[in-house]
Amino acid sequence: MNLADTIVAVSSPAGAGERAILRLSGARAIEIADRVFTPACGRGLVNGAASRGLVDQPTYTALAGHLAPAGAGMAVPATLYLMKAPRSYTREDVAEFHVGAWPAAVPPLVAGLVEAGARPAEPGEFTFRAFVAGRLDLAQAEAVMGVVDASGEAALRAAGDLLAGHLSRECSPLIDAVRDVLALVEADLDFSDQDIELAAPQEVAARIDEVRCTLVDLGRRSRGLETFGGEVRLVLAGLPNVGKSSLFNSLLEADRAIISPVPGTTRDELRSALHIGGLEFVLSDVAGLDELASREGAATPACRRGLPNGAEGDDLASKARAKALEAIGRADLVLLALDATAASYDRMEEILGLVAVPMVVAITKCDLAPPDRATAHLAARGVAADVVATSAVTGYGLDDLRAALVRAVEGGAVDRESAGPVVTARHRSALERAAAALARAHRVARRGGAGELAALELREALEALGTVAGRKADGDVLDAIFSKFCIGK
Ligand code: GDP
Repeated sequence: MNLADTIVAVSSPAGAGERAILRLSGARAIEIADRVFTPACGRGLVNGAASRGLVDQPTYTALAGHLAPAGAGMAVPATLYLMKAPRSYTREDVAEFHVGAWPAAVPPLVAGLVEAGARPAEPGEFTFRAFVAGRLDLAQAEAVMGVVDASGEAALRAAGDLLAGHLSRECSPLIDAVRDVLALVEADLDFSDQDIELAAPQEVAARIDEVRCTLVDLGRRSRGLETFGGEVRLVLAGLPNVGKSSLFNSLLEADRAIISPVPGTTRDELRSALHIGGLEFVLSDVAGLDELASREGAATPACRRGLPNGAEGDDLASKARAKALEAIGRADLVLLALDATAASYDRMEEILGLVAVPMVVAITKCDLAPPDRATAHLAARGVAADVVATSAVTGYGLDDLRAALVRAVEGGAVDRESAGPVVTARHRSALERAAAALARAHRVARRGGAGELAALELREALEALGTVAGRKADGDVLDAIFSKFCIGK
C-alpha cells in the first residue's frame, strides 16, 4: 500500500443503521472534501476573512451540509467532521462524512469519493497509518481489532486495557533492561582483547535472570484477550488418572475430554465456557501434575509457576506438563481433584505447594470409596478450601461442587480485579520466546561463556519483545496483525 495516497472507506458497520461514516485520510483529504461537500452555512468567514474553504477551517470542526460527489449522481445530507494533521487518528488530515445509513446509497458515495481522487483503503489501513505515524504501538494496534470484535462489555474492557497501553507499559522497562545488559555484553566484547572486564559474568547473569523472572511473572499475570469475557479462569488440577477429565465433562455436561484408564491421556489444555449461577468460568483441563511437581519444587519461587524455561521440556509429556503448570499459574481459581480410591496422598504435597490461588477440592470416585481418608488428609494439612465429595459416574455431589465454585468467587476469595495486562495469543508466544532466549543467555553468562552467544540470545529476546510493544516491525509481524483487520478500521 502506498502511504502517500489519500484513502477512503466506510468505517461504520455494513447494513442499515442510524449512520454510515465515510472516512478520508491523507494529504488530499481536505481538498477532496472541499470538492464534494457544500456547507449549509456557505463558506463564511474564518477569523474575519473570507474563507477559502475547508482548508481555513480549524481542526475539530463539524459542519452540516450536503455531500454530492460528482460521480455518485446524488446529493445527501451529511455532517462533515474535520480532524487536521497531526491531531487525528492517523496523524494525517482526516475528513469524515456522517450520512444516513442507506445501504444502497453508501457504495456510490464511496465510488464518488474515489473518482474525486481518493484510493479505496486496504483492510486496517487507517490503523496501519496510525502505527506508522507512531500514534500506536503494535500491541495497541492489535487492540483496535479487539475493540471492534468485542463480544460483550467485559471483552470490550479487556481490549480497552490493551489499547490503553497496559501491556506496552509493562514491556517497555523490560526492553530497556535487556538493551542495557546487551550494551554491557557488547562493550565487554569490544574490549575483550585489552583484558578489561566491564562487568563480572556473574553480575551479567544475575541481571539477565532478574529480567527473565519479571518477564515470566508478567506472562503469569497476563490475561488472554481471546478468552476474555470477564470470566473466572478455573483450572482443573491433580495427579494423572484421578478423574479430572471425567469431572470436566460432567461439569460441562458434554463429552469433550478423552477419558481413559491410561494415565497421562490429557496432553493439551482443553478449555470450555462454563456458566453457573450467572457467573462465567473458563474451565481448563490440563495434564496431570506428578512429575512436574517434583521437578518444579526446586525452582526459585518467583519463577516457579511461569513460562517454560528455555530448552527444557522438549518431549511431548514435559511440554504438556509445562502447559499445565502455566495454566495453573494463570488461574483465578483451581479445582483440585483428589481420588477417593488413592492408596496414599503423599504425592499431593508438592501440587498443593504449587497452587497460589484459592482452591476448591473435589474428592472424585466417591461411588467407589468414601471421601473420609482424603478429607482427613486435607484437614491434617490445614488446607483452607471447600471440599466436596463427588462422582462423575453417578453425578453425586456435582451440584454441591457447582455451588462451592460460585461461593469461592462470590465470597471474594477470587481476586478478579488485580489482573495483569491483557495479551493476545501472539503476544503470549512472543513473551515465551523472549523468556526462553533470556534463559539461554543466562546459562551462557553464568558459565562465564562466550559473550557473542549471550549477545545473540539477548538480541533475540529484544526482537521478540519488540514484536509485542514495538514501534517498528518486519513485514511478517505486520501481516499477522493487519491481515485480521477489516476495511475501514
Ligand atoms: P484424569 O487423567 O485425571 O483426567 O482421569 P480420567 O477422567 O481420564 O479418569 C481416569 C479413570 O477413572 C477412567 O477410567 C474413568 O472412567 C475413571 N473415573 C473417573 N471418574 C470416576 C468416578 O467418579 N467414578 C468411577 N467409578 N470412575 C471414575
